[in-house]
Amino acid sequence: MKYIDLRSDTVTQPTEEMRKAMYEAKVGDDVYGDDPTVNGLEEMAAEMVGKEAALFVPSGTMGNQIAIMAHTSLGDEIIVGANSHIVQYEVGAAARLSGVSYSLVANPDDKIYKEDVLKRIREDDIHHPRTGLICLENALGNGTVVTLEEMEEVFQLAKENNIPVHLDGARLFNAATYLKVEAKEIAKYTDSVTFCLSKGLCSPVGSLLCGPKDFIAKARKMRKLLGGGMRQAGVLAACGIISLEKMVHRLEEDHENARYLARKLNGIDGLSVDLDKVQINMVFCKIQLEDFNSQDFVSYLLKKGIKVNDDKDEFRFVTNKDVNREDIDYVVKCIEEYFS
Ligand SMILES: *Cc1c(COP(=O)(O)O)cnc(C)c1O
Repeated sequence: MKYIDLRSDTVTQPTEEMRKAMYEAKVGDDVYGDDPTVNGLEEMAAEMVGKEAALFVPSGTMGNQIAIMAHTSLGDEIIVGANSHIVQYEVGAAARLSGVSYSLVANPDDKIYKEDVLKRIREDDIHHPRTGLICLENALGNGTVVTLEEMEEVFQLAKENNIPVHLDGARLFNAATYLKVEAKEIAKYTDSVTFCLSKGLCSPVGSLLCGPKDFIAKARKMRKLLGGGMRQAGVLAACGIISLEKMVHRLEEDHENARYLARKLNGIDGLSVDLDKVQINMVFCKIQLEDFNSQDFVSYLLKKGIKVNDDKDEFRFVTNKDVNREDIDYVVKCIEEYFS
């Protein structure tokens, strides 16, 4: 059975072209620096985000954690969003692997503004940890995008205080698509950036950590420390190259589909979507109906061939390459039927 899978964009299947490219990829031992396809991907990634160098890593989580390890010293404090992926979905790794504590920013919109940073930068005092890093996210996990102005303000303040800025740009290209700019226009307000190939860009595996040459050299060693040194990884990097060449340009289609789905859901009694917050490929839909049973709803949809996470009273639907307009019409029809 073919499922319509709206749980995430990580569920995207590699394309035919990717599978062929994997088969044909020229490979070598990447720990020796010998894999031409990995080297090619890293160069291409660095160029696209306007950084000197890049490192191919197995996951976005590893990319973020290596960045934190490479930027900070033991005992530092990092300024980071309370709802960010780094805080909520990385097993508390920064505390464990880098030995840093968190100064959390908890704004209703999940953004980090200049004023938040200003309040949190530590003075040189015998009682205080050192502020070692600011971690931003763009696009945010709530499906909205941080503007270039907001990024620039934080970055300028960080520079004035000699604090590096890392961007968790798992969906950097979605953010760039929304802002109608190149990814490097966003990344220029950061020292380092991670982005994922394995989400809307449809690769089976992989992320890139990008930054200055000396930082990436350090990061390469940290990747080895974590057991992330890979050998003939060119079979994976070959897909990554296709992601960057071909899949970046189709993200707009996912965004359009998300807006379309959002408008349709908003027309159903008891369901509401804040359309202004549908900026990338994510639709957050509140369901406020008496007797609503989310488990029952999820299993009903599954029987109809639709996969969604059980998000209780606010469901997240993520559009992606493997979900087309027709699929969305079918999803809307099934949801309408359920609530009628
Ligand atoms: C997906 C994601 C990551 C990294 O996830 P992995 O599954 O480890 O690749 C990091 N940050 C954000 C905001 C994400 O959405």
